[in-house]
Amino acid sequence: MHELSVAQSIVEIIKENVPEQDYGKVNAVLLEVGEFSGIIADSLQFCFDAVKLETPFKKARMEIKKVPFVLYCNLCKVETTNSNGIRMCDKCGGFDNSIVSGTEMRVTEVELD
Ligand SMILES: [Zn+2]
Repeated sequence: MHELSVAQSIVEIIKENVPEQDYGKVNAVLLEVGEFSGIIADSLQFCFDAVKLETPFKKARMEIKKVPFVLYCNLCKVETTNSNGIRMCDKCGGFDNSIVSGTEMRVTEVELD
């Protein structure tokens, strides 16, 4: 399962960012997950809750903020969003655009006691 390896890498990210003596103080890990990142938030949550039991972060909860899929159209010069994840401008139907957000997965904060 993809989300399982993501959950494991989140544990690694916490370890890299928190001094070892503070591992027991980790309360929460905050994430931003794009709507089209390929990660299912509920599934990631479930995997993290299972994985954390074998780590020093047993009491850490995961808070996931979903990030919408946003495109910037180079023709219309506006940002549009759609719910199908296709890189097509909602306004003009063009494909000349760049992805602003919605494909990312990042840890934004690790909360300590
Ligand atoms: Zn457009």
